[in-house]
Amino acid sequence: MNIDSLFEMTAADPVPPSQPVRWFDAAMPIKEALPRAVNAMGAVPTGWTSLLEDTITQLLAVRTKEREFSLVFMSLEIEDGELRLDITFPDRVMAGIARRCAARSREICQLCGKRGKRRYLGMYEVVTLCPQCAAIELLHRGIAEAEKYLGIYTVDETVPGMRLLPDVLRRPFVAEATAKCPMQPGQEPRMDKKTFRAWVSTLNGMRPFLPPSRLKERRGGRN
Ligand SMILES: [Zn+2]
Repeated sequence: MNIDSLFEMTAADPVPPSQPVRWFDAAMPIKEALPRAVNAMGAVPTGWTSLLEDTITQLLAVRTKEREFSLVFMSLEIEDGELRLDITFPDRVMAGIARRCAARSREICQLCGKRGKRRYLGMYEVVTLCPQCAAIELLHRGIAEAEKYLGIYTVDETVPGMRLLPDVLRRPFVAEATAKCPMQPGQEPRMDKKTFRAWVSTLNGMRPFLPPSRLKERRGGRN
């Protein structure tokens, strides 16, 4: 074979461009399409993995040529403690599947998959958590907030009461204030600035011994 014939062969027998495999291809069995789809949709919190799989299985079960366009551009959004499917031009069936997914996500802990409910974490962030996961996350977030906003809580050298504090710290605040700072009868528990700083510092020192937080702290307001 000389070099010219090699070129001829290459020209006559071009390698076809590789086609990306589409997760919603109607010819592909659901069992095979599901892992591709879950992979294509990107990461969701661990507690919602089964929900995402159920939802995509439902979408695969109703895939048609007409729905192809919507499926190509489908993406996921996690907002306000919900798992939302962002579908372009959904018909009633697809919109129904998306609605059910969002509604179910509001009742499933996004971290562990147990029954949960939507809760505020800090001032802006809404997450769906079970009581156990919430207790850990709220405590981490509460201590971080107390540390960060130390100056805001103190007015005229005292922390006038617990109303400004994150909910999760109110009972411990009362216990500490009652033990450390004398009160007049009928007066709300309060702490002087020095006691408050020492208390927050002690709480902060306990954080490494708590189960670790599994939610990333957001910077600023809503994303
Ligand atoms: Zn949980």
